[in-house]
Amino acid sequence: MLKIDNLSVKSGDSVILKNINIEIKESERVFIFGPNGSGKSTLIKTIIGISNYKILNGKIFFKNKDITELKISERAKLGIGIMFQNPPKIYGIKIYQLAKYLCKNENEIKELAEKLRVDELLRRDLNVDLSGGEIKRVELFQVLLQKPKLLLLDEPESGVDIENISVMGKTLNDYLERGNCSALIITHTGYILEYIKGNRGYVMIDGKITCESNPEKILEMIRKYGYEKCEKCYGKENEGI
Ligand code: ADP
Ligand code: MG
Repeated sequence: MLKIDNLSVKSGDSVILKNINIEIKESERVFIFGPNGSGKSTLIKTIIGISNYKILNGKIFFKNKDITELKISERAKLGIGIMFQNPPKIYGIKIYQLAKYLCKNENEIKELAEKLRVDELLRRDLNVDLSGGEIKRVELFQVLLQKPKLLLLDEPESGVDIENISVMGKTLNDYLERGNCSALIITHTGYILEYIKGNRGYVMIDGKITCESNPEKILEMIRKYGYEKCEKCYGKENEGI
């Protein structure tokens, strides 16, 4: 479904991603862990094609098609959906307007809005004066209405209370199960793992993948020893985890 082949990415003067290799097969869910500033959001933004990153080497394939040079809109049309960590506020565009643009079926909009508890927010401007948790639920609402085949989720649970993490986690899991959809999920806290079972997890430190293992195991190690252990483990195959 997605193949990231030896990808290195630069922004400004610094190389942020260094020779990243990740493959996600159909219906697989892959998690990425890593400390702040390690390059996780950059990876997801490069996959969807945000233009302020310069690709130094490597390629990105989606369904065996080289998408490295495609525009964001073309990648979205192919079936890649993204939930940003910090989505922009857009004055003058109502959430409902955007929903109608993304999905023609009003019942489907209504049903998903209720499920994600955003039905009371539909007449509001996009992300304007919404709480952190509301923004995340609205992001998820929009991306699921696009019915992607690959979901890129950047810390979907950050700033969301426990009850709403459960609402989001269950809705996401239902979609992944029903939609035959793959996912690349960045998580800091790991709460989302209680709702979505992962096939694989990676740790990213300083722009490099330093570990590949079972996501629950990675989370357990990070909670016990912090990222320091992952850094030490790097290069020594399977040691530590
Ligand atoms: P993470 O999501 O893992 O916290 P990011 O991918 O957001 O990390 O950022 C990785 C590093 O790249 C950080 O040091 C950040 O400051 C830097 N960075 C990200 N975007 C840019 C940019 N547009 N210009 C310069 N540096 C950037
Ligand atoms: Mg980030």
